[in-house]
Amino acid sequence: MHKRSHQYNIMKNRVVRVTGMALSLVLVLGMLLHFQHPLSAMQLSMQYAYASPSELEDAKDEKDKVEDELQKAEDNVAALSSEVGTLSGDLEVLEGLSAEQKAQYLEISQELAAALIAKKEALNLYIDSQNTLAQKTTEYSERISVMFELQNKSTLEVLLESDSLAGFFVNLELIELIGDSDKQIMEGMKAAMDDASLKSEYALQEAEDMQVIADQKEAELKELEARIGETTAVLERKQSELSEWEKKEEELEAESERLEGEIAELQRRLYETKPGNSGGTAPPQGSMTWPYPGDYTIYSSFGMRLHPIQRDKDGNRVYKMHNGVDLGGSYGNPIVAASSGTVIKADAPVRGQNTGGKNFGNHVIIDHGGGVSTIYAHCKDLYVSVGQEVSAGETIASCGSTGTSTGPHLHFEVRVKGVPVDPANYIT
Ligand SMILES: [Zn+2]
Repeated sequence: MHKRSHQYNIMKNRVVRVTGMALSLVLVLGMLLHFQHPLSAMQLSMQYAYASPSELEDAKDEKDKVEDELQKAEDNVAALSSEVGTLSGDLEVLEGLSAEQKAQYLEISQELAAALIAKKEALNLYIDSQNTLAQKTTEYSERISVMFELQNKSTLEVLLESDSLAGFFVNLELIELIGDSDKQIMEGMKAAMDDASLKSEYALQEAEDMQVIADQKEAELKELEARIGETTAVLERKQSELSEWEKKEEELEAESERLEGEIAELQRRLYETKPGNSGGTAPPQGSMTWPYPGDYTIYSSFGMRLHPIQRDKDGNRVYKMHNGVDLGGSYGNPIVAASSGTVIKADAPVRGQNTGGKNFGNHVIIDHGGGVSTIYAHCKDLYVSVGQEVSAGETIASCGSTGTSTGPHLHFEVRVKGVPVDPANYIT
């Protein structure tokens, strides 16, 4: 009984097993027909913006190029920074203008460098994200192949290899669990791919935008370079004019000093012919006639004055001694003797000219006795000659701009024994 019963049970089990397996086969085949196939690797490549290897190579080349440009831009910024720091000129306006332009140049150069840095970073990001995308895609398609293999193999083999229906369902459940975990992993992979793809696109756009800015900045620099070139040319011309002018003024100063001795000698010779060897009584302060009739303004006083254009090496305006007063003036206006006396010098190297010559140009020196003399410089025409006696208020010359002079005026000096004193104390 026990043995029969056992045999029956085995038989019964076999029938159930075979029937169950047949039923299961139908079920599983039905499931297989509806099985959702994962995306193939081929479909993947259509979905994402892949860069081909040559495109990636181009991106790397471009990154190298950008690095070179960046180096140049940074060198430029460094050079300009020091140049702006040491820039010094002699003419305030031009110097300021040039410094401003250089500062502007520096600013634009820095903007260009910033744009190139941003472009370089964007290209780096692009290359990185393209690499990430490629790597994630490889992982994804490998995973899909493994899954296909597993799914295909498992469904059929698990069915045939399961030695019980319960065992089959347990195995099937396990496969589904593997599928779920695969699904999660693959979703994670897809998210990473989306991220890399988005980053890559964004980075490429960023790099393009930065190049537009860099192009614009370079155009601005070119334009500014041209303007700086023009300003520099003007500055150089002005500086050479200035140094020429400074040379002339130094000559004039030397000439003025030399005149001390010359006047003293001329007076000594003149006084030899006169009683007491003093040429008579010196005219007192406040006794002289204004030598430029019609305009009683002193445009530049006697003594130390700020030079209108000259600068020292630190760019500060310099003080210069002015040995007389500047009066007048218009070309051709009469100049009169400030006091009666004898003409001891009438030098007209450019007689009849408004300009030309050097130092005092056409000039007259009159002795007034007692060691006092007056000088009338930068004249146009001279109407007197050496040895001539003149009276106060008598026209002796016309106004000009000969010698070292920037415009028509009378440079008038009063000297005592050849040494310049303030004419303002003598003329009224
Ligand atoms: Zn003067």
